[in-house]
Amino acid sequence: MSQSEQSRLKVYNTLTRHLDDFEPIHPGRVNMFVCGPTVYDVSHIGHGKSYVAYDIIARYLRRKGYSVFFVLNITDIDDKIINRAKENKEDPLKLSERYAQAFYKDMKDLHVDSINLYAKASDYIPEIINQIQGLIDKGIGYKIAGGVYYDISKFPEYGKLSRQNLQQLTVHRIDPDPEKQSPADFVLWKAQKPGEIGWDSPWGKGRPGWHIEDTAITLTHFGPTYDLHGGGTELVFPHHEAEIAQAEGLTGKKPLAKYWAHTGLLSIKGQEMHKSLGNFVPIQDAIRKVGVEALRVLYASTHYRSPLDYTEETLVQSGSLARRFRRAYDQLLQPEGTKSETKSSQEELKRQVDDARTEFYAAMDDDFNTPRALAAYIRIVAIAEERGRSLGRESSSMLMEIMKDLASVLGLLETESVGGESQQLVSLLNSLRSDLRVKKEYALSDRIREQMQKAGVVVEDEAR
Ligand SMILES: [Zn+2]
Repeated sequence: MSQSEQSRLKVYNTLTRHLDDFEPIHPGRVNMFVCGPTVYDVSHIGHGKSYVAYDIIARYLRRKGYSVFFVLNITDIDDKIINRAKENKEDPLKLSERYAQAFYKDMKDLHVDSINLYAKASDYIPEIINQIQGLIDKGIGYKIAGGVYYDISKFPEYGKLSRQNLQQLTVHRIDPDPEKQSPADFVLWKAQKPGEIGWDSPWGKGRPGWHIEDTAITLTHFGPTYDLHGGGTELVFPHHEAEIAQAEGLTGKKPLAKYWAHTGLLSIKGQEMHKSLGNFVPIQDAIRKVGVEALRVLYASTHYRSPLDYTEETLVQSGSLARRFRRAYDQLLQPEGTKSETKSSQEELKRQVDDARTEFYAAMDDDFNTPRALAAYIRIVAIAEERGRSLGRESSSMLMEIMKDLASVLGLLETESVGGESQQLVSLLNSLRSDLRVKKEYALSDRIREQMQKAGVVVEDEAR
């Protein structure tokens, strides 16, 4: 990786509001934590934007030679889950397990394969209780009827991530719990309400607050400080601010995370994507429609920190770009006989491709600038398109190797079919299968499904 080692990686850090040199706490090793979903529903393409962004970041850090330990938490107990479970008359943990499984499938189908560990909040109850007890022992946590709260007056640096001061945070707030010492104090442990799920604790039955699960998980796996914390920009306050207060208040070690990298939201016609607004595009729908490579091109076309306003048109455009990458690559797979090349034309080609590759790495080193990296990649694709058929075997395989290698940083060229013509064929096979199922010819339908799955095609079956 001589190319990438030459330039230094810079990361925009929300904590410093600067483009900082990336230097992990332990040389060569990166501990990375990203806020995962609250699993009470299926995930939409806005969630996909964020997780693909951190997937690219983790892939690139590994490419630079770091050993990356990437943990993503799953909030499987929360008000939203409890309310949804009540509506469904379902056990909340069963409901969250079902959506957690759907989420793992979304990540797999999006080729988000860089995550080492999915950590579910309900698996860390003892660690959470320990951490809260530690905060109480230090005089930072206090118990009232509603549960245990964090006394923000005991952590003077509260507000340092979101750049707010304590005074701003403690006035002008409507406080639902007059027992709290300050309106901005946040909950660590929620006392059980009648009919709700709860775990035993020294403060009676209850469940963890949202912020404490992350610090219980990271303290368990990384210790008091680690390298990179990610999540959507909307999580900076109060969620990430509260995490800093909890961890640094408890351990006295700082910073909790050296780099805070936040992703911009995906919107649709300027609005947030939400089921209640009727503009919800599930990840699985988008994959079925255009293929995973199109989605990943769409995400990479926008810098991770920038918002992305989604339109169907841009998704379709990303689809044709993804198909173009595939066609250019496939064309090199079938050299039309051995062509003799002159040494100088070989060298000229190599120089052009090396230039573009250097630019690709420089772009990624510049705060993971994927739109710029994508532009450099397109330069190589254009060379392949223009000269692919006239190249000799040696140049051809050199070009293929570089195309595959750089694509793997962005998670591209990882499926055989990327939509378009292949997608039409998949639709045809799927409709054939539903006809067979109507006629109860399940064995034949299943045989087609098996073959499709072997070919790497995602097949969804409705219940028989
Ligand atoms: Zn979180």
